[in-house]
Amino acid sequence: MSYIHGLRCRECGATYAEDPIYICEDCFGPLEVVYDYEAIARDIGRRHIMDSPLNIWRYQPLLPAQHNGTVGSDVGFTPLFHAQNLGRELGLERLYVKNDCVTPSYSFKDRVVSVAVTKALEFGFDTIACASTGNLANSVAAQAARAGLRAVVFVPADLEEAKIVASSVYGPTVLAVDGNYDDVNRLCSILADQKGWAFVNVNMRPYYSEGAKTLGFEVAEQLGWCAPDHIVVPMASGSLLVKIKKGLDELARVGLIDGVQTRVSGAQPAGCSPIASAFASDAKQVQPVVPDTVAKSLAIGVPADGPYALRTIRGSQGAADAATDDEIIEGIQLLAETEGVLAETAGGVTVAVLKKLAERGTIRPDELTVVYVTGNGLKTQVVLNGRLRAPHQVKPTITAVESALTHTPA
Ligand SMILES: *Cc1c(COP(=O)(O)O)cnc(C)c1O
Ligand SMILES: [Zn+2]
Repeated sequence: MSYIHGLRCRECGATYAEDPIYICEDCFGPLEVVYDYEAIARDIGRRHIMDSPLNIWRYQPLLPAQHNGTVGSDVGFTPLFHAQNLGRELGLERLYVKNDCVTPSYSFKDRVVSVAVTKALEFGFDTIACASTGNLANSVAAQAARAGLRAVVFVPADLEEAKIVASSVYGPTVLAVDGNYDDVNRLCSILADQKGWAFVNVNMRPYYSEGAKTLGFEVAEQLGWCAPDHIVVPMASGSLLVKIKKGLDELARVGLIDGVQTRVSGAQPAGCSPIASAFASDAKQVQPVVPDTVAKSLAIGVPADGPYALRTIRGSQGAADAATDDEIIEGIQLLAETEGVLAETAGGVTVAVLKKLAERGTIRPDELTVVYVTGNGLKTQVVLNGRLRAPHQVKPTITAVESALTHTPA
């Protein structure tokens, strides 16, 4: 059963039917799904959700699908844990890590793609496509393989090799575009009008982006049905940040948690920080940039949801900041050494910005803070080359081992 009323323009409020469309015909604003919250509040309680399988579809009434998803039964309910070591390091008593590195294709993109592919099947598409900074292509290729759909994924040609491999292995058509993500996205916007394919983050974007709300729902449920005081979220287009906050607000709106006072802070790489820069300079507009950063998964210079992310951050008394390439790598190492989690560069960005906000007192020591780690470091190992202590080469003898140990700092 679906609680969707259709689509609505986020700018002018014009309404549309539930179709594979994404732009308002009147004002070119982005479209968003509209739900019947009164009916959801009436029909759905915590018990209903807690008795459902541990995947994203336990929140189906608040997702844009007619029924539980046909894909994504293994997506969602990733670990949330009290990060005591990292918290001690940063002076945060109640720091939690939401570890979304451990999804089927090793990034949070499995959530949004599960919703988009479910919707694409509902609409009768036979080809799934995307404009990707890497992780999205991995997830689209994997889920299309499982759903028996054709996949065509577009990525910037300078992507990490591991992310190309982690798409190609599933057998999609991979198009490595000579340009950056913003060029890829522009190309896909034109193709979406011509091809009759479901571009998950173009013509399916109103539905796709809703999948990210599950990162708000889950954290609230895992905290015993309450919203965190502060969250720190990586930003590329800014959609993830906006949707996590929307997810928390919706839980309150349908009576599943108390009012939400969560402060929302955003993290970007310094080499691509249009949203964080707008925040720092108190600007009204987000100015496009040309990305130059090791955090390729966050390298979107023209962020579609930038203005909405800014509004969410400012409206919640949050903050935004950026991390240099060196700080990103230090962030990866800090998380690995304190909590045993190997995050990709986007995780390095988020942990580095978390550290800055904690040191500056923007995050107060007693705030229940959740840091979102959204992608797996096995895909971006290349940035650690030359950064880690090399293994000691030893002969297979006790004396060689003893000698190596005496020359090694503990
Ligand atoms: C795509 C992505 C994000 C954030 O994307 P938005 O465009 O801001 O929604 C964050 N982390 C990782 C690892 C990603 O792949
Ligand atoms: Zn409009």
